[in-house]
Amino acid sequence: LGEIINVKDIVEKRKILIKERIERLKREEGITPKLAVIIANSEESSRVYVGRKRKMCESLGILEEEYEFSEKITTEDVLKEIERLNNYDTVNGILVQLPLFKHLDTSKILKAVSPTKDVDGFHPENFGNLIQGNGKIAPCTPKGVMTILKEIGVDVEGKDAVVVGRSVIVGRPMAAMLTNEGATVTICHSKTKDLISHTKRADILIVAVGVPHLIKENMVKENSIVIDVGINKVDGKLVGDVDTKNVIKIAKSVTPVPGGVGLTTVHTLMENLIDLTETL
Ligand code: NDP
Repeated sequence: LGEIINVKDIVEKRKILIKERIERLKREEGITPKLAVIIANSEESSRVYVGRKRKMCESLGILEEEYEFSEKITTEDVLKEIERLNNYDTVNGILVQLPLFKHLDTSKILKAVSPTKDVDGFHPENFGNLIQGNGKIAPCTPKGVMTILKEIGVDVEGKDAVVVGRSVIVGRPMAAMLTNEGATVTICHSKTKDLISHTKRADILIVAVGVPHLIKENMVKENSIVIDVGINKVDGKLVGDVDTKNVIKIAKSVTPVPGGVGLTTVHTLMENLIDLTETL
């Protein structure tokens, strides 16, 4: 039987490092990092996610401000607010909580965030740098996955990595980061023929789809590392995209859901904020 990766311990360890960096910023530069969060939707889950980010900020001594808008807001209004925050020296990071109200122009709004305050790494400039292999700021979920791999001692160079899911938030940047580190990467998605033929030969399998227990034990390679990004609600319970209980019989290590990748996502947001603050 393989092991369930203890992501909680990894995050606790990384939190100590980040606290040290925050203390240095305060002590030597007189800067208390500040995150501004823009909320323009009516999704209940967004409130939950923002709440987690707020809590993490509080626990690390980071300032956090929330700008919540009603459905009457226009794209122009949001752009104006972002421009104001871009020009505020005391704001180090701007996060646009997705999804936005449907009538808002998400792409235009994400582009308006200054690349130097883009904690989520969604700005095309940061995304482009990532693809070119010299980006420091990268989307939090895939960056957190790289942290997990590093912390459990996986050297991705030369490995066959398969990413299931090609979203801009997870799958694509994930593939770019693995490529940058020297893995041989395959990206699968809903149009992929014979998914199993790809997943079965993955030394590292990363699943970000949103289909409960899509990945079964017959789909993974022996002794592989399986990272489950998926978060699905089934009968009121959270489950991932991987049938962990059975996959663990074949794989070497699997991340749990809940208590897995989701923990590193929030933590990585804080790391991005400190990276941006330090390079001011
Ligand atoms: P999207 O819905 O944007 O993307 C899903 C991807 O999965 C698409 O590329 C889609 O293909 C592909 N796909 C759908 N069905 C299949 C299938 N049967 N076989 C193979 N590929 C398939 O989702 P996200 O990337 O935003 O999120 C993915 C999951 O990760 C969700 O469960 C989400 O809740 C979770 N998540 C978790 C985070 C965390 O912190 N742990 C953070 C972000 C997301 P196509 O492109 O062809 O449509």
